[in-house]
Amino acid sequence: MNRKKVAVFAVAVLTTVLAQPMALSQAASAGHTRHAKITSFYPTAGKSTPTIASAASVAAGLGAVTYQPGGTVISQPNIYVIWYGNWPTNSCSQENGSSTPAIVNDFLGSLGESDWNKINTTYYQLLNGKKTFVQPTADVEGCIVDTGSQGLTLDSDTGAQVSDVVDNALSTKSLKTDPNGVYLVLTASNVNVTDFMSLLCAYHYFYDTPQTTIKYAFIGDASANLASCAPQVSNSPNGNPAADAMVSVIAHEFVEAVSDPIGMSWYDQAGFENADKCAWTYGKASKTANGSFANMTMGDRQYLIQQNVAANTNTCVLALDSGEPDQNSSSHM
Ligand SMILES: [Zn+2]
Repeated sequence: MNRKKVAVFAVAVLTTVLAQPMALSQAASAGHTRHAKITSFYPTAGKSTPTIASAASVAAGLGAVTYQPGGTVISQPNIYVIWYGNWPTNSCSQENGSSTPAIVNDFLGSLGESDWNKINTTYYQLLNGKKTFVQPTADVEGCIVDTGSQGLTLDSDTGAQVSDVVDNALSTKSLKTDPNGVYLVLTASNVNVTDFMSLLCAYHYFYDTPQTTIKYAFIGDASANLASCAPQVSNSPNGNPAADAMVSVIAHEFVEAVSDPIGMSWYDQAGFENADKCAWTYGKASKTANGSFANMTMGDRQYLIQQNVAANTNTCVLALDSGEPDQNSSSHM
């Protein structure tokens, strides 16, 4: 499928506020979406269990992730979090412990300094002869709890969409409008999002405002059906399989939103974005004290995070080789 056509079509759809469902078979074959307005989602299909042995870096999709001329990246990304649904009112400030907000907040607080996030510094944009690499920033610049301003059913063919949750936060100025922002909508278990836990675990997309293009991602709490979206269902590094699953999926959507913000920058011949090619693969994991698997330490916690494609080698990795030149800093020296 030609991704450019999809993206252009999607913009047209958005302007008319009509979401025409695509044929399921078409969506499934491309590894993409049921809703025409969403160009990339994290499929439930293909979920695998981590192992201690170094798993082969299986790259799904077709061919290499390549840069599309004229495509943009978010070169200095910021993160905004919307806890949507019946999350605790203090979700933005929780840390430590085994609650979902604490596990996610601690992860986001460490993401910007992580070796994993530096993988994304191999991506760039080339505009007017100027090459700009992605910076490994991931600061949380804003966070709110929204108990359900747009209702508890999202993305049905009629009614509110996940993008409406973001738009509400921006129009009410609960969060600032940031062209470099990736807005994460984290839905609680009392929120129904169409196709969540059946076809998809998450997706990222965008919409236009008069000022700028807003990039956002949906990631749900899959407690109600852990088998759909959690690599480990009985235990996990932080003793909360749903939260630990969300963290890896958040990581996936974040790096995609940064490298391919509107679906026209970096993808392979099958339309797979960087993290799509490594979905459900964890590289070399090890056993934690509670018997679950983890593959990295960030801050005070261990996590099991999926691999991402390094654009310069086109392989799924957990970190860039230590001998790898930092393209990002060298280009700015
Ligand atoms: Zn994806």
